[in-house]
Amino acid sequence: MSEQEQQEATEYRYDYPLVPLKNTVVFPHTRMTLTIGREKSVRAIETALANNRLFVAASQRQPEVDDPQPENIYTVATLVEIVQIQRNLQDHTIQLLVEGLKRVKIEQFLNYDPFFRIVTAYPTEPISQGPQADALTRHAISLFERFAQLNRRFSAEDITSVISIKSPSRLADVLAAHVVADPLQQQELLETFDPLDRLEKICVMLGNEIEILELEAKIRQRVRQQVDKSQKEYYLKEQLRAIQEELGHDALSEIEELREKVRSKGLPPEIDARVRKELDRLERMPPHSAEMVVLRNYIDWILALPWQERTADVLDTAYAQKVLDEDHYGLERVKERIIEFLAVRELRHRQAQKNGQRMREHKGPILCLIGPPGVGKTSLGRSIARALGRKFARISLGGVHDEAEIRGHRRTYVGALPGRIIQAMKTVGVRNPVFLLDEIDKIAVDYRGDPAAALLEVLDPEQNYAFTDHYLEVPYDLSEVFFICTGNNRYQMPRALADRMDIIEIPGYTEEEKINIGRAYLLPKVLQEHGLSPDQVRIPDKVMQYIITRYTREAGVRSLERQLAAICRKAARRIVQHPETRLRLTLQNVEQYLGVPRYSPETIQNHGQVGIATGLAWTEHGGTLLPVEVATMPGKGGLLVTGQLGDVMQESARAALSYIRSCADALGIPENFQDMLDLHIHMPEGAIPKDGPSAGITIATALISALLQRPVRSDLAMTGEITLRGRVLPIGGLKEKVLAAHRVGIREILIPADNRKDLAEIPAKIRHQMRFTLVQSMDEVVQHALVPETPSVVECSTVPVSSPPSKRDDYESINQIPYRPEYPVDNTVPYHGSHKTIGRREQRARRKQSSPSS
Ligand code: ADP
Repeated sequence: MSEQEQQEATEYRYDYPLVPLKNTVVFPHTRMTLTIGREKSVRAIETALANNRLFVAASQRQPEVDDPQPENIYTVATLVEIVQIQRNLQDHTIQLLVEGLKRVKIEQFLNYDPFFRIVTAYPTEPISQGPQADALTRHAISLFERFAQLNRRFSAEDITSVISIKSPSRLADVLAAHVVADPLQQQELLETFDPLDRLEKICVMLGNEIEILELEAKIRQRVRQQVDKSQKEYYLKEQLRAIQEELGHDALSEIEELREKVRSKGLPPEIDARVRKELDRLERMPPHSAEMVVLRNYIDWILALPWQERTADVLDTAYAQKVLDEDHYGLERVKERIIEFLAVRELRHRQAQKNGQRMREHKGPILCLIGPPGVGKTSLGRSIARALGRKFARISLGGVHDEAEIRGHRRTYVGALPGRIIQAMKTVGVRNPVFLLDEIDKIAVDYRGDPAAALLEVLDPEQNYAFTDHYLEVPYDLSEVFFICTGNNRYQMPRALADRMDIIEIPGYTEEEKINIGRAYLLPKVLQEHGLSPDQVRIPDKVMQYIITRYTREAGVRSLERQLAAICRKAARRIVQHPETRLRLTLQNVEQYLGVPRYSPETIQNHGQVGIATGLAWTEHGGTLLPVEVATMPGKGGLLVTGQLGDVMQESARAALSYIRSCADALGIPENFQDMLDLHIHMPEGAIPKDGPSAGITIATALISALLQRPVRSDLAMTGEITLRGRVLPIGGLKEKVLAAHRVGIREILIPADNRKDLAEIPAKIRHQMRFTLVQSMDEVVQHALVPETPSVVECSTVPVSSPPSKRDDYESINQIPYRPEYPVDNTVPYHGSHKTIGRREQRARRKQSSPSS
C-alpha cells in the first residue's frame, strides 16, 4: 500500500453504511444523482448524514430483488460522499447528489438491520504512468471526441472537461460513467483495478459504439434522402398538375391516352419496354419543352408504324397471270419470270403452312426490273402488288447519296426523321407490302456514307428481320416485305446489290407494240382519268402510229401517254362546251390537238453520202442512232475531233485514223494523204456528251469513205469497236441498238462477230425483219458499208450535211455507255482482213479516184 493510500485509509473509517443500487454503478471522480426509496437504504443515508456524509454505493447482482441479502450484492463498490440532498415528502424518497470517492472492497457485513453496515478495504491501484499510459490516454480521448461528435449528447463544457483529464485512472472512470450504458459492463469496469486495463477495455467499447453510431448515421441519411426525393417528386407532380389544370391543358391525360394506345398496339416486348420507359420520361418533362416535343414525336412514330398489321396474301398464280395481262400488254418473258417467281413463293408458303410456320419473305434473289424509262417497270410493281393482294409502297433512290436518307438521322439532330424505308412503311401501314425501290442504279457514294451498304441490310433476308433505323433506335422487322428494284442501267448498280438481284430486262417497245399499248391500255386509262368515255374520243391506229413517230421518240411509252393526255384535255374542253361532240382524230386534224410534229419522219435516203456513216449507241433511255461525219480539207495532217466526245471516243477516233494510216495502201488510199489533208471528225448534236467503246468502226468507215471519196450506204447502220490492226471488237447493248435502227427503218446492221450470241435476245419479230452481217475485220466493214463503185461517183470534198435523225427527247444522253470488261479483248486473234481482199488493179484505180479534188 502506497503512502498516500495509507493516508487515505486512515482518513476514512473502515465501517460505513451500505446502500444497494439497482442498475446503477457509481464511479469514483464522478457525480451522480440517486433516488433512494427503500426503507433500509433511507435509514443508511440518515446515518451517513448524521456522521460524515459518507456511505458505500454497491450494485445489486439481480436488480429485481427488493430486499437484497449480502450474496445479492457485488463486493466491489464505491465509497461516495453526499453533496446535496432533497427529500420528497409525498412518497418519502430522497434525491441525492453524490460524488464517487474511491473503489472499495466489502470485507465483511457487520449488521443487516436496520440497515447494512460493512467493513471495507481499499484495494491497491497499480501505477499508471509512462508512454503506454500516455498513448492510451490520447487514443481514448480521440475516440471520445469522435463519439461525442456522433452522439451529440455532450455539451462543449462536458467535452473540454473530459479532454483535460490527464490521469488514465480518472479518465477511465469518467468515461465509464458517461459513455458506457450497460450496468454489467460498468460493474466489470469498476472491478478492473488496473487503470490501463480499464482504459483499454473502454477504448474497445468506444470503438464498437462508434462503429454502430456511424452505421446508424449512414442509414439515417439514406432514409432521409429517399424520403426527401419522393416527397419532392410528389410535390412537383402535384404542382405540375395544378399548373396544367390552370392552363386548361391536361398533358397527363394525354400521356394516359398514349399509354392506352401502347397497350392496345401489341408491340413486340422489346419495343414495348422501350416505349414505356420513354413515356415515363415524357411524364416528367415540362410541357411544351423542346425535348418533350422530340420525345413525343418519337413515340408517335413508333405508334404509327405497322408492327402487327398485315394483309392476307392471295397466292394464286392463275389470278396473278390474269392481273398482269389486264395491266400490261406483251412483256411475255417478263410476265413469265414474275409468275415463276410467284409460283415458287406459293410452294414455299404451302410448305411453311404444313410446318405450322409463317413464311419468311424471299430467301432467294430479289426481283429487279431493268430498262429504259416508260417501259412499265413501276406499273409492273403495282400489278404484282395487286396480284398478291398486298399494299404497294414505293421510294425513289435517284440522287440519294446520304446513308441517312435510308437509315434516318439520330434523334440528337434537330428535326431528325426516320429514313425513307421506315417512312414508307408508316405510310403503307402494313408490315408486308410490295415495296418498290426505284432507280436503284442512281444511288451515289460520297463522304456522307454509302447508301448501298444500308440498302444491302434492307434487302438481305439474313439481316433485314432486324433493320436498324438511326431514329427509331429499335430493330424493325422487314422480313415480310416483298422488295422489287428497278433501274435503267444494270451496269451502274452497286456490285454488292446486283449480286443479290434476279435481273429481268425490259428492252423497250417496237412501233407495233406501242400502237397496241396505246390503243388497248393507255387510251382507255387516259380517257377514264379525264372523265371521258371511249366513244367520245376515237384515235384510229394510223393516227396512233403518226403520234408515236412524229410526236415521241422513246423506248417506252411515257411520252405517248402524255400526248394522249394532251388530246384528252383538249377534247374535254370541247365536250364541256358542246356535250354532243364526238371526236375522231385523223392525220389531218391531229395537229390541232398536238401542234406541229416535233420529229421529222425518219426516212432513209437510198443513195449514200461521202464521209457520213451511221453508228448505233446505247443509252439508259434505249438505243439511238449515232451519225459520224468526216470532212477533208487541204492541209498538213491536222486532226480535229468535235461533238462533245469523251475520252474513250477520242481514242476510238485516233485508233481508227492510225489503222487507216497503217494500211492505207491496202485500202487504196495514198500513203502520204496526211501531208496534203487536214481531217475533221464530227458527231453532230454537239449538246449531248458522248462516250463509250462502240463507235470505232463507224468513225473508220466515215474516214475511209471521205478519203476514198466513196459514199457509205445510208440504209445500213453499224456498231463495233476497232483495234489498231483492224479487228472488230464486240460491244454491249445490242438489243437496244437494233430496236433503235429498226425504229427508223434501217434493216441491215453490221455487228461484231463476237456478238452473235446476243442476237437470240432480240425479239423474234424484229430479228426476222432485219439482216445482220457479222464482221470480224475492218475490211469486211468496208466491203459491206461502202456503196459499190459505179462510174458516177458523188463529187464531194466538203461533206454535205444530210438530215440525220435530228432532235431526241431532251432527256436522251449517250454519255453513259458503260465499259464492259467482261468481253474478252483478244489481240492474239490473227488479222483476217488480208491485203489481198482488194485486187491490185482495183487498188490502182481507186488511188487515182481518191486523190483530193482540190
Ligand atoms: P417506268 O417505271 O419503267 O419508267 P412506268 O411504269 O411509269 O415506267 O410506265 C409508264 C406508263 O406506261 C404507265 O402508265 C404504264 O402503265 C404504261 N405502260 C408501260 N408499259 C406498258 C405495257 N406493256 N402495257 C400497258 N401499259 C404500259
